[in-house]
Amino acid sequence: MTTISADTLPEALGAPAREFIARTHRLLIGSERPEAADGRTFATLDPATGREIAEVAHGGAQDVARAVVAAREAFAGGSWAALPPAGRERLMLALAQALEDHAEELAQIESLDNGKPVGLAQYVDVAGTVAHLRYFAGWPTKIEGGVLPVGAPNMLCYTRREPVGVCAQIVPWNFPLLMAAWKIAPALAAGCTIVLKPAEQTPLTALRLGELALEVGFPPGVLNVLTGDGETGAALVDHPGIDKIAFTGSTAVGREIGAKAGRALKRVTLELGGKSPNVILPDADIQAAIQGSYQAIYFNSGQACNAGSRLFVPAERFDEVMGALAEQAKAARLGPGLDPQTQLGPLVSAEQRDRVMGYIDSGREQGAELLAGGEAALTDSGGYFVAPTLFSVTSDELRIAREEIFGPVLVASPYDTLEEVARRANDGEYGLAAGVWTRDVASAHRLAAMLRAGSVYVNTWGLVDPSAPFGGFKASGIGREHGHDGLSAYLETKTVWTAL
Ligand code: ADP
Repeated sequence: MTTISADTLPEALGAPAREFIARTHRLLIGSERPEAADGRTFATLDPATGREIAEVAHGGAQDVARAVVAAREAFAGGSWAALPPAGRERLMLALAQALEDHAEELAQIESLDNGKPVGLAQYVDVAGTVAHLRYFAGWPTKIEGGVLPVGAPNMLCYTRREPVGVCAQIVPWNFPLLMAAWKIAPALAAGCTIVLKPAEQTPLTALRLGELALEVGFPPGVLNVLTGDGETGAALVDHPGIDKIAFTGSTAVGREIGAKAGRALKRVTLELGGKSPNVILPDADIQAAIQGSYQAIYFNSGQACNAGSRLFVPAERFDEVMGALAEQAKAARLGPGLDPQTQLGPLVSAEQRDRVMGYIDSGREQGAELLAGGEAALTDSGGYFVAPTLFSVTSDELRIAREEIFGPVLVASPYDTLEEVARRANDGEYGLAAGVWTRDVASAHRLAAMLRAGSVYVNTWGLVDPSAPFGGFKASGIGREHGHDGLSAYLETKTVWTAL
């Protein structure tokens, strides 16, 4: 395995992040740090330069089998589920504290590996991770069954809520640590054990998370981390020792995992793509709507499943709104995530940049009007930058108006009536999020009820909280994360009948 010299890493990295990144990155199985059984590794790159930052073990089927055994032993041996609930709570709080203590280091690692602005990494990704663990740490002491008023005489009938078992948790690259937290926090609270598979583009913070869990005293095998690619993920999904799969990623892979889980009757939750409509109503506070709509799409360089990527504007306000959005998009400061001045970082990979550029080309070819951006930017840095792009369209049938782009590309169109915009907003395969900008309470809630989406934002966009269910209608997924619903996805209900 090659070790990257700490000297070649960007100067903006602090000593802890630099030391971590320059280490050898092996798998984390039980309390061991093995190389992949077949010795394979892969490189993780800095998206701002395309340069390699670390070599990471590439887990294969044998490693999957080992990790599942470790997780199963930790589950069946009772070292986790049988710990008193307050014991699980204490360890989860200790992990949250450790992550908070390492917030700057984790944010820098994330920023370098993913490309996102370091402030966003610290105040959204790391802070959200800590909040998630703290919220779910409150649950182990509150998981209750009930006593049921059954008709049979002299019968005690009650329910127990038990952990579902060993969970395969497969996460994407857009919010690597935070997506891992969305998965592990409810699973740990429920008493499940985990094999976590980070995305191949961004494997580093998951490894640091796993190490910190061991350091604060988690029993070995409760949280195993397998780095690798889609093949590693598929082997994990296929393994018979997995009871539940939780996946966040593309709709195409989600369909495949859902089909496999169906055949094997494994529990499954899927958080998939989106093409979320954002509707400005004629009476909206127009400045707030413009600012909010800008953030809704360009936040995290558009690499968010709930990005507000379709904008609907009243025909009479269309030119004004387009003018303001285009002006702001043209002034955006692109740069490496570790530069504190950066507003938009690069996309995560050359593949993603090419995908997004392909959509931009198709928009041009299909006759959309380009109002800002449209080019790969800062190309001499070697990084994967795409300028924030704004298209105006008059048809909802264009590919850029229907398909998820997952990049900084906004597709806007004018409309005339509330009924028309509700119909057009719902016309698509996805249903993750939707937004409404208005000062009128009645229109806000009428539209909120009409929109077929798992989250509706009124006069805001993209808020997330560990207590607030998140997930999709239609092809945007199955199940909900966060809150009671998120916890329930990791619990089985057992009904116990006792004749007295
Ligand atoms: P994207 O196209 O945005 O990279 P993917 O859905 O391919 O998103 O990836 C999300 C996560 O799913 C990553 O961790 C990836 O390695 C994993 N993955 C990709 N293909 C498969 C698969 N066939 N089975 C299981 N996991 C997969």
